Amino acid sequence: MQRVNDKKADQATVRRLNMSAILKLLRERGTLARADLAKELGMTRNTASNIVTDLLQAGLVVETEFRRAGAGRPGLLLELAPNGGFAVGAEIDISRIIVVAADFNGKILWEQAVPITRGQPQDQCINITEQLVDDALTWGRGEGLRPLGIGLGLAGLVDSENGVLTYAPTLKWSDVPFKTLWENRFEIPVFVDNEANTSALGYQTYSDRSKARNLAYLSIGVGMAAGLMLEEQLFHGSSGYAGQAGHMKIRTDGVACSCGDHGCWVTEVGINALARKSGIEKIDLAAVSGLLRNGDEKLCAVTDEMAEMLGLGIANLVNLFNLDTVVLGGAIRPILPFMLEKTRAVVDARALKHPRANVRIKVSGRDNDSVFGAACLVLDAIMNDPVPLVRSLI
Ligand SMILES: [Zn+2]
Repeated sequence: MQRVNDKKADQATVRRLNMSAILKLLRERGTLARADLAKELGMTRNTASNIVTDLLQAGLVVETEFRRAGAGRPGLLLELAPNGGFAVGAEIDISRIIVVAADFNGKILWEQAVPITRGQPQDQCINITEQLVDDALTWGRGEGLRPLGIGLGLAGLVDSENGVLTYAPTLKWSDVPFKTLWENRFEIPVFVDNEANTSALGYQTYSDRSKARNLAYLSIGVGMAAGLMLEEQLFHGSSGYAGQAGHMKIRTDGVACSCGDHGCWVTEVGINALARKSGIEKIDLAAVSGLLRNGDEKLCAVTDEMAEMLGLGIANLVNLFNLDTVVLGGAIRPILPFMLEKTRAVVDARALKHPRANVRIKVSGRDNDSVFGAACLVLDAIMNDPVPLVRSLI
C-alpha cells in the first residue's frame, strides 16, 4: 500500500513535470490556447488550468487576446512573458570575453564583448568578466526585469555539477570554482558548462529547435570538443567530462598531442594541425580563407586532408549515436565551408548506411552559439524545474 508521504511526493513530481511541459510547449509554439495546451499534453483541462493560473500569477506567462476572422468573441492565447525575467550568459575564450542578457523567451537584448590577449592573467580576465556581468545585471534591473541566473561557457574540462572549471588547457587555468564564487558575489543561481555544450544548446535553441534531437556540436579551434545533445538533453557523462572528442584516438602513428598521448583527433583537424600541415607558423584564419577562396593549391590539399580526418571522426560519432545533426563551429569556422563537401563525402563513404541515412552536417551560421547557449543554461534549468521559482514568486 502506498504511504501518504509517497503519494505527496508523486503529486509534487507530476506537478513539476506538468508545469515544465507547459512552459516548454509554449516556448516551442509561441502562443497556444488553454484548451489546446491541455489536449496536446494529454492533461485534463482542470490540471492545465490550475498550473496556468500559477504561472500567470508568477508573471512567467501572459494572456494575449486574439480575434478570429469574422465575428465572434475574442479568445485568449497564452505565451511566455518576455518580462518574466532575464538570464545572463558569459563566455571566456582565448581571444575575447563576451556577455549577453536574454529575456525569458530567450531573445538576446544586450550584448558586450571585450578582447583579451593570450596569456592575460587569470584574475584580470575574471575581473573583466565580472564587470561585464555586473553591467548586464544593472541593465536588466534598470529595465525592470528580475535576474534569473548566470550561465558561463568555458573551453576545457568543466565539472558542471559543481560548477568548477577543472582544467582549461588553452587558458592554462585549473580548479576555478566559478559557481561558488559567483553565487556568493551575485546572489543568483550560476550554471557552468563546457563551451561545446553551451554551443550545442545555443545552436539548438536559436537555429534548429524543431529538428535537432540528437546533435553533436563540434567546436574546433586550438582544442576540440563535442557538445552532445542526446534526446534533446545535454549529455554530461558520469562526472561531467563527456564530449572530449578532440582526444578520440584516430591514428596509431599520429603526432604528439597536448594531452600527453598521440594520434588524437584534434592533432589532425584543429588550428595546430592547420599550422603544421601548411607550414604557416602564425595562423590568420581570415587570410587562410582568402587563399582558399582563390584556390591556393597547397592550402586546398591541406584542408582536404583535414576534411578527410574530420569526416572519419564524424563517421565514428554517427555510428555510435545515430545523430540527426552534426554542427561544425568554433574558432576554425571561417575555413569550415571549404571543408564541408569533402567531410560529408567521407561520412557518406565511411559511416554505416542506416545510422547515416538522416544525418545533416552543417557549419554554424554564427560565432556566438556558445554565449547564447550559456544564457539558455539558466532558462533551461527553470524550464526543467519551474516549481521553486514559481513558489518564490507567488
Ligand atoms: Zn589528446
